[in-house]
Amino acid sequence: MTSDQPSSQGTSPGIGPHTPQRPIWLCRICAVAWPCLGARSLLSVEFAADPTGLSCYLAGQLQAAMVDLSALNPDSGPDPVALHTRFLAWVRPRVAITRARLDGDPSPPPRA
Ligand SMILES: [Zn+2]
Repeated sequence: MTSDQPSSQGTSPGIGPHTPQRPIWLCRICAVAWPCLGARSLLSVEFAADPTGLSCYLAGQLQAAMVDLSALNPDSGPDPVALHTRFLAWVRPRVAITRARLDGDPSPPPRA
């Protein structure tokens, strides 16, 4: 396994490999900013029991994206706050929702 691809990301039937196209960091399938909704869904299922592991994985991806996007646009570079929101801010609430669904709880988890 490389740092770019967790063990089963993108291998779910019918969803496709929602992996980042580097160095532009757009989804290879959706052509939107990665992690796209498909990637977030796959990752939150894959890491449902390990949200800290998902945060660590995505922190590594964020760092790689910062390097790539800074090289593509050296004058202004990417906005670090926007990249944090894009890569990490969604993890805890999304994993909580996924875990509740996997556990069969029809109600959404309480807001933090
Ligand atoms: Zn996608």
